[in-house]
Amino acid sequence: MSALHDRLDAELARLRDAHLYRSRRLLDSPQGVRPVIDGREMLSFCSNDYLGLANHPEVVGALADGAARYGVGSGAAHLVSGHHQPHRRLEEALAELTGRPRALLFSTGYMANLGVIQALAGRGRRIVADRLNHASLTDGARLSGARLLRYPHADAGRAAALLHGGGQALLVTDGVFSMDGDLAPLPALARAARDAGALLLVDDAHGLGVLGATGAGTLEQQGLTMDDVPLLIGTLGKAFGTFGAFAAGSDTLIETLIQRARPYIYTTALPPAVAHATLAALAVAAREDWRRAHLRAMVARFRAGARQLGLPLMESPTPIQPLLAGSAGRALAWSRRLEADGVLVTAIRPPTVPQGAARLRITFSASHRETDVDRLLELLAALPPDPAPRDGANASPEET
Ligand code: PMP
Repeated sequence: MSALHDRLDAELARLRDAHLYRSRRLLDSPQGVRPVIDGREMLSFCSNDYLGLANHPEVVGALADGAARYGVGSGAAHLVSGHHQPHRRLEEALAELTGRPRALLFSTGYMANLGVIQALAGRGRRIVADRLNHASLTDGARLSGARLLRYPHADAGRAAALLHGGGQALLVTDGVFSMDGDLAPLPALARAARDAGALLLVDDAHGLGVLGATGAGTLEQQGLTMDDVPLLIGTLGKAFGTFGAFAAGSDTLIETLIQRARPYIYTTALPPAVAHATLAALAVAAREDWRRAHLRAMVARFRAGARQLGLPLMESPTPIQPLLAGSAGRALAWSRRLEADGVLVTAIRPPTVPQGAARLRITFSASHRETDVDRLLELLAALPPDPAPRDGANASPEET
């Protein structure tokens, strides 16, 4: 084969040796806490379907109804001829949920973050960002051409220091950190941004639908308004169980995004039927408060049990409950041991998390039962303390 293939094969072999090779599991069933994989029903703790809406009958029915009414493909970008009635209704509903004048749909959260950052910061500007922000925020900052300054995780003091230093800056953070489950210090970051005349952008992909009295997310939980956080990003493929994302803010910010955000302008609008289904998901999430309450109860049960067992839990008040393993090899061995016992928990390894901070990323759903949490705890308690070879030793090729 070509020299390029040889180089790529060598790189793939290196990833395998380092326990960093990734592969995909194939589901034979809808998303849920009991997916069928290779003909076997598993108990899953690794989806972001926090409220259990991805396969909710009302949402599934709305998708079918939406397809019957609007077809499948949107056929064009929003600015050409792809902007349909359900898109507009969903934008209005999301603006209302987040207490903002306007919201703008994007096709994915990854694209929303690329688009928003590129539209608001470019060459000559500074972006101040948490070191553990989601990859899409980091990629957006890199692609924007602005100067990226990263502060140690959740260190609002360092963020404030980096914001002072000339020129308008954009301060960017996850609301709930996707691999750690902890919350950004938003009140302190909002103060820092206000003092420096910077704009604060919060990606609340994992807080929306889950946190706050009405499920309006981390900002609602922390009592923050649009004055504190002028621009909010949310995704629809997690708690709301469908697909897509949005930015919410003032009329001026949203109009600027429509004119300037390239991942908004140059892509096909998400299917209108998906927007129609998301409206149904928002209605279920708003109506069925018990989902958030039950989710909180599952997390509390898990944390109490894990504490009793002396497991190395991280400080997370959310449905993302990572269990630190350290080496990628150990995280992988833990994940495989659980899988052999019918429980699915993904091993998260570098570069998604820093070197030496590989972990099991355990996530809870409103569809879990108490007995599911107890089963997980029972298996976690039985994990050998150091069952894995050190990173760099041989590993088999089918690792996830
Ligand atoms: N932001 C955060 C914090 C995320 O965790 C994710 C998804 N993992 C995204 C953005 C990207 O969203 P999407 O999956 O819709 O592209």
